[in-house]
Amino acid sequence: MGGLNSYYYRNNRLFETGLHAITNYADKAAKHAPLNKLLRQLKISRDEIGFHQQISSEIRFPEASLLFSNDFEELQQQISATFPSQSDNFQRLVSYIDDADPFSEQHYRSTRAVLAEFLDDRLLVDMLLCPVLYYGSSWENDIDFKQYVIMFRSVFQEGLFRPAGTIKNLLDLLVAKLNQYGGTLKLGTGVRNIISQGEKIIGVTLENGEKILCKHLVSTIGLDETRLLLGRRKDSQGDRRLAFVESIFQLDRQALQVLPGDRTCIFYSRTKDFRFEQPDVPVCYRSGVISLPFNFQDLQTNRDSIEVRTTHLANYQHWLKASEDSDFYEKLKEQHGRQACREVEPILGDFSRHIVFSDFFTPLTVERFTGKHGGAIYGSPKKVSDGSMGYDNLVLAGTDQGFLGIVGAMLSGVSMVNRHILSKL
Ligand SMILES: Cc1cc2nc3c(=O)[nH]c(=O)nc-3n(C[C@H](O)[C@H](O)[C@H](O)COP(=O)(O)OP(=O)(O)OC[C@H]3O[C@@H](n4cnc5c(N)ncnc54)[C@H](O)[C@@H]3O)c2cc1C
Repeated sequence: MGGLNSYYYRNNRLFETGLHAITNYADKAAKHAPLNKLLRQLKISRDEIGFHQQISSEIRFPEASLLFSNDFEELQQQISATFPSQSDNFQRLVSYIDDADPFSEQHYRSTRAVLAEFLDDRLLVDMLLCPVLYYGSSWENDIDFKQYVIMFRSVFQEGLFRPAGTIKNLLDLLVAKLNQYGGTLKLGTGVRNIISQGEKIIGVTLENGEKILCKHLVSTIGLDETRLLLGRRKDSQGDRRLAFVESIFQLDRQALQVLPGDRTCIFYSRTKDFRFEQPDVPVCYRSGVISLPFNFQDLQTNRDSIEVRTTHLANYQHWLKASEDSDFYEKLKEQHGRQACREVEPILGDFSRHIVFSDFFTPLTVERFTGKHGGAIYGSPKKVSDGSMGYDNLVLAGTDQGFLGIVGAMLSGVSMVNRHILSKL
């Protein structure tokens, strides 16, 4: 799990950059669940993290709304009640997803087309796509079915949680484990280039000129980003990458009187035909995600900061152009903040008068702090599921291997290291 999920301090307060909700929740008893396998592999006990499950999340469209929680039954019941004619079809779709193997080598398959084979209702198709696209699609209006299976399981069938502490506590825990096993985290200087000799990687040169030699290299910076460090061309020339503006509104405690107390995330579309594509304006408000990170089970009373976060699709080029004039760029961010409030207040209640501090990450912020080209949080539309980059000892892990989110990024790292490095020792 890299820099997309981090933290910073403003006004003596810790801000989490990314944490809405972590996917892949599993009870302790579910020994074979990906989360529990991951914790065993990393030798982290569940108590070190502290799990707080979501309360309830919502997919809200103009004509219908569906609630889901970490009890998958709830989504099934909601679909039966709201789309009675689709109930059996949905069960068949779930069986098909249960039987699917997203890790086998397959070409891209449109999820929209697969869902339409099972469901006769376009609205339900859009509603079942909306959270998954927002939590992990690098394709416009669709997602590769392999990826959908992974995300459907991790968002709907497993569910969402938050750790007891902040993202800083979680990162500190991971760094402590790394140190305990002899690793070192080097910060403050990036990799300038990867040194190769034929099919072999020898090491890396850092931006400060230092060379580090290695037997194996695992890159989590992205497919194109890694290729450029190898002196190769980008793989995905001309792809339309998806970027977002993320907004954080910190609120006073009175805001609790207007905000819903039982919603963790709300995935909304204001129009019945849900669009998930690069907008031709700086920010598109037709759809988005609203996250209420204080609304997790047993967390409401002990959180000292009440926040609303919103995610909206954005156009990287517009923000790049705006950044040529820093005053204009700042004004555009402020303007976006006001507009984001206006757009989501009809859903959340009138919270903007309770704002004590706000901050916005544009696609340029994401690019600057993570190196993701175009500020594309979910990376390249091309995923390399076996992690292979055409070198004997270089493996790609993380987002562009096809695992999204905090747990996904960690699962990817562990599985790629097991497969390409530890299995050969
Ligand atoms: C605003 C936001 C909200 C999110 N919310 C959630 C959430 O609620 N739940 C969830 O599960 N996931 C969430 N995510 C997604 C999650 O953060 C990512 O899926 C995850 O961090 C991906 O990890 P990664 O290791 O693949 O990539 P990254 O996090 O991008 O890590 C790659 C790292 O490589 C570094 N790097 C890049 N270039 C170089 C170089 N040349 N040399 C050295 N280092 C380099 C970057 O600085 C970065 O630290 C969110 C992301 C964002 C941006």
